[in-house]
Amino acid sequence: MRPVFMHPVFLLITWFILSCRPDYTKSQSDAAIQSLLFAGLSSNVVTCAQPYTGQASVDTIIDQIKSTYGVQPCVNLGPLPLFTLGTVTSSDYANLQTALTTLQTEFARYPIELVLRSRLRMISFPTSIGVPYGGTAGGFAPTELDFIMVRLQVSNIPFLKATIHHEFFHHLDEEKNGPRYYTDPTWRSYNYTYYSYGCNRSNTSAGVISPPAAGFLNTYSTCEVVEDKAEVYSNQFILPNKTQIQTLIANGDTAVAQKLDYVQRVAANFSSSINQTFWNNL
Ligand SMILES: [Zn+2]
Repeated sequence: MRPVFMHPVFLLITWFILSCRPDYTKSQSDAAIQSLLFAGLSSNVVTCAQPYTGQASVDTIIDQIKSTYGVQPCVNLGPLPLFTLGTVTSSDYANLQTALTTLQTEFARYPIELVLRSRLRMISFPTSIGVPYGGTAGGFAPTELDFIMVRLQVSNIPFLKATIHHEFFHHLDEEKNGPRYYTDPTWRSYNYTYYSYGCNRSNTSAGVISPPAAGFLNTYSTCEVVEDKAEVYSNQFILPNKTQIQTLIANGDTAVAQKLDYVQRVAANFSSSINQTFWNNL
């Protein structure tokens, strides 16, 4: 028997309560508690209930991704406390095939060692992602569990691509920086003035360049430090967004310039091939 406060489900629930709080309410003691939770969460909390579809055209891609990157694409996850995930059924397999092909295309833009060294272990495409703080999400990265989820939709492929890179960056960020990735004083120091992150998530936009203020790419970036980071990173992989960010920097937005340099350094930690040539060629 382990004490209830060590139970993985309890730790997961507590982590969500802490991590989903508005950013401006965070205190040092929260961060200290959170760091204990990071250390305590088991990587076995979530499992893959259905790893294959039984349809050869899809399962072949699943095997290719597994053998290349060591990442298990999961058709349907096992129970994940506090989330409501839409089940992928046979009528979704064509869309799943498109999403997996898109994942392959986007991961192929990376050096293989970046994905391997990141130790990402699973990716899933639920048809919907109901999140603990209410509403739904286009993706979610329970980073302590080394897996990411991206909502299965193929009507907006650029958004699907951006979401894959966005969620993957949350994982890279946590692998590189540990618990401090969430509050990150270095990142905060790039903002022009003291900035209290926080937003109404249902009224924000991600994957577009529409700065609500200097130093931010879009309203979703203002939600939390981690979202700000993931938006700077993921929009590098989308055109014309990457070019628009270069224009912001050329026009003197030094905060965005510092943020871009930061996310590039996080990725470079996993592969020496992530250099300026890599970013220029995207
Ligand atoms: Zn995010």
